[in-house]
Amino acid sequence: MRIPRVLFNINKNASVRTLDLEEFDILKKCDGNHDLENNDVIKQLLNANIIHLNEEGKKLETNQQYKFFNNRYFHQVRWGLTERCNYKCRHCFMASDGENRNDELPLEDCLDIANQIADCGIERVIFTGGEPLLRNDFFDIVDELLKRNVKIASINTNGSLITKEFIDEIIKRNIKPSFSVSFDGIGYHNWMRGVDGAEKDALNAIKMLVENDFYVIAVCCIHQGNIHVLNDTVELMNNMGVTQVEVYRTAETLRWSLLPEENKALSYEDCYDAYIDLLYAHKKKIGT
Ligand code: SF4
Repeated sequence: MRIPRVLFNINKNASVRTLDLEEFDILKKCDGNHDLENNDVIKQLLNANIIHLNEEGKKLETNQQYKFFNNRYFHQVRWGLTERCNYKCRHCFMASDGENRNDELPLEDCLDIANQIADCGIERVIFTGGEPLLRNDFFDIVDELLKRNVKIASINTNGSLITKEFIDEIIKRNIKPSFSVSFDGIGYHNWMRGVDGAEKDALNAIKMLVENDFYVIAVCCIHQGNIHVLNDTVELMNNMGVTQVEVYRTAETLRWSLLPEENKALSYEDCYDAYIDLLYAHKKKIGT
């Protein structure tokens, strides 16, 4: 079997470039300690900005050094930091309502997991929950991952705990995760989330994140009750500067299935029709 060799650049949109064996062997020697004979392959790698000449006596940074992990498949994990949540969403598969259904891992165990993640070569973490920002030790976990050069790729949140102080903590660490913030439609978010003020909080979080130049994904769950505000909701997100909107059919979790008939899930056909209507309505903006 031919084992593929690639150069994966996590900083440039996770771009991937296939390498042949000769290029791969040369790259392994680009450690700041080997002298290499100039040849066509080296010229090629220099021209492609993949390598550059090392200044006399300058060593590579730890994160530039060649590493080998016996892990060919997983470069990213999604880590549910807690099952607790300050919301009571009508479609939540956890339905935890502020309680832990299972014991939450103490910080000590989370730090150990952070190191295990780094030890097996995983490069990126997506935080989710529950509401991950409810953990008081959230930044201790972040810092342990950063110490091991694991990237914080994304944070899934209901937005209620996004404050100026929180954003300052993120900026202070010089990191740029994307944020997936739930927003289930103008006038319907409070109802869906089971909390008064949820809509205001989500919009405020989105505004602050956009203002601070973060990649923001608004996540919208549609159902029979809110389908008619989908277009206006996407328009609002667009006007607010959200980078991406993800629209999902609300699935029939146990809690959702106990709701009255008029708020039931959409059929798959109705959901696809809504997607098509949305594509036509926003045709110009998305260039289709
Ligand atoms: S915000 Fe997420 S985790 Fe919290 S109750 Fe809602 S769906 Fe569940």
